[in-house]
Amino acid sequence: MNKAAKIYVAGHKGLVGSALVRALQARGYHNLILRTHKELDLTEQQAVRQFFAAEQPEYVFLAAAKVGGIEANRTQPARFIHENLAIQTNVIHESWKHNVKKLLFLGSSCIYPRDCPQPIREEYLLTGLLESTNEAYAMAKIAGIKMCEAYNRQYGTVYMSVMPTNLYGPGDNYDLQNSHVLPALIRKFHEALPDKPVTVWGSGMPRREFLHSDDMAEACVFLMEQCDEPRMVNIGTGADLTIHELACLVQSIVGHKGKIVWDHAKPDGTPQKLLDVSQLHALGWSHRISLREGIAKVYEELDKTKPF
Ligand code: GDP
Repeated sequence: MNKAAKIYVAGHKGLVGSALVRALQARGYHNLILRTHKELDLTEQQAVRQFFAAEQPEYVFLAAAKVGGIEANRTQPARFIHENLAIQTNVIHESWKHNVKKLLFLGSSCIYPRDCPQPIREEYLLTGLLESTNEAYAMAKIAGIKMCEAYNRQYGTVYMSVMPTNLYGPGDNYDLQNSHVLPALIRKFHEALPDKPVTVWGSGMPRREFLHSDDMAEACVFLMEQCDEPRMVNIGTGADLTIHELACLVQSIVGHKGKIVWDHAKPDGTPQKLLDVSQLHALGWSHRISLREGIAKVYEELDKTKPF
């Protein structure tokens, strides 16, 4: 990728998209094409077609998606499957039509079977049943990966897929109903009075792995720059912890001293989700930001004068 290459970051207002813009700009890429959701609705085929015909991007980071935590996935499965299938179908197909040189599609670690061996290797895809709480989202993402592979096979394209673990970072979604666990915990501990109890969902037993969005963006740019072969790559840290341990970590960073109460009526979701990142490490990339450092940075940078 030369520094003047035309690069389209789809979803540049999102957690990963905004980190991608920061990472690309920091490296001197200055020809970025960006469109807000209002300016370009990626679920509209005609609009996407016109956009690609007019802009002719050379590289595409497909970070636009309808995303959300366990509760949003449970209550809006139709929107998760429809919007994600539409966005990725339109963007991948128009990328091919307009000779995009490389595309990087953002998948998710929830595409893997619920009960697959840990840590999760890329080849475990489609070897078992999915976790039911996010099946609709996972099905759409699996279709996106397979679509990239099909275009690579039939048309010789270089469309890569990356499977990030749970991500967090600046500009995260802090809505208590729809967010992922980490921003929810930051908000809950921050808003609670110092000695009042905080309610955390589930049993605290599930294990999760977390990666800062700036690390995720670095990995994506690294792959776009370095890989000329299409591949599917897990992106994570290679280390996980229980939700209980996570809650204690966030509590200590925020400085809350009260009790933690577990709401067992809320679902636990997948028991463990830890990615095997040996392929990524072998390619020459590993994460830089530790979990404690990353949460502390996010909390420090949070504008606490504004409501969440
Ligand atoms: P998942 O990784 O797809 O299961 O999505 P989440 O990030 O939403 O949830 C991860 C785990 O954290 C689940 O076991 C949740 O029950 C648990 N959890 C605990 N408290 C919360 C909370 O306040 N919000 C969310 N979203 N999850 C929570």
